[in-house]
Amino acid sequence: MSKVVTGIDKSGSFRVYVTITTDMVEEARKIHNTTPLATAGLGRVLTGAGLMGILLKNEDEKLTVQFKGDGPAQQILACANGAGDVKGYVVNPEVNLPLTSKGKLDVGGSLGIGTLTVIKDLGLKEPYMGQIDLVSGEIAEDLTAYYYISEQQNTSFALGVKIARDYTVEAAGGMFIQMLPNPDEKAIESLEQMIGEMKPLTAVIEKVKEENPVLSELGLCEKLLDEIFKDMPEAYAVSKLSDTEIRWNCDCSRERIERALMTVGVSEMKKIIEEDGQAELTCSFCTEKYKFNKEELEKLKPQYEDLREKTDADSTLVNYVKASRPASKFSKMLADDEKGTRLNELKGIIKNTEIFKKYADMSVQDIRLSQQNFNGKIQLQEDSISVFKEISEKVNPSVKEEAPLQQKTEVKVTEKVQEEQVIGGPQ
Ligand SMILES: [Zn+2]
Repeated sequence: MSKVVTGIDKSGSFRVYVTITTDMVEEARKIHNTTPLATAGLGRVLTGAGLMGILLKNEDEKLTVQFKGDGPAQQILACANGAGDVKGYVVNPEVNLPLTSKGKLDVGGSLGIGTLTVIKDLGLKEPYMGQIDLVSGEIAEDLTAYYYISEQQNTSFALGVKIARDYTVEAAGGMFIQMLPNPDEKAIESLEQMIGEMKPLTAVIEKVKEENPVLSELGLCEKLLDEIFKDMPEAYAVSKLSDTEIRWNCDCSRERIERALMTVGVSEMKKIIEEDGQAELTCSFCTEKYKFNKEELEKLKPQYEDLREKTDADSTLVNYVKASRPASKFSKMLADDEKGTRLNELKGIIKNTEIFKKYADMSVQDIRLSQQNFNGKIQLQEDSISVFKEISEKVNPSVKEEAPLQQKTEVKVTEKVQEEQVIGGPQ
């Protein structure tokens, strides 16, 4: 359980959230058995996501923060909700790189060049999604840039994870400053100066701990807030508003895994039952394994038949597109399509997007199917999804002219598709 203390400055120019997440990050380290470099990256992302989750208005609202790059860590992903639950994983928990020239763990290098995607599910029909290119891959800087670019908000993040000699987490924490409407110019200047001169957050946490050895977690967090802002001018002195907590919690369940399992496709399921006679799926967040024997798989079948329609549309689409790939062929095909027959055909497919949405909902969340048994199968799904996107893009201009409503449907689906790709993670 990690405490989070919220404070506000005297002039009402900014709000700040500070947290000490040593326990939460250590728990994630144990679950994923991460190297120090992976622990640092994952710990920062978990802490950042947890702080962002606090801003959600309702407990059941959730967000996903995904850092994806061409570096050896590949991807670091975390989910948080308004109730303070946080979970996450790094695709390559064994990532290892030399320290940077400053002697720091090279989190930016482990991610490389890539993107930061934030998806917020606010219980509305469609999730909100924002994406930026990674600034440095050092996480805090990227999250700050995300708020500035995608949400037009001035914020500042500081995130830190310090690894002990035995590779456990010695200290971890985060700070998130959010400028409020119409801030004092001087407040911004003072903040910038303070941030510029600030020691690494973990050093401040350790100092506070050393000075207050008997304080509770909450007391320590309050002290941390005081310590960080102790040199602010009196007009912008920070005082505590409230406190809350965030914690590691994976909400996976057998039921959810069953739903994921049901997306493999009618014929694939048959094949699994006949050839493997069993299935094992691993939750990518908490690494919990879910085993299904033949009987259990067969029991899933009746529910699964209901999804036949989806599967058929899926394969129709894949076949259709396989015949017409690559994308340049699409453009040509549409250009040659004087009677609009093929265009209509494509539109028909796009009309079936409800099916795809259903599909995205089901495999959403978290479930990375482990086991060679499943890899090939999910690959097929992702393939069809990217193909689907391709079609949407190609058909988009024409649809726009003729039927604005349909275009709207399309945009929504594209978002869903992206969410699916994001949340499903690589295999
Ligand atoms: Zn789990």
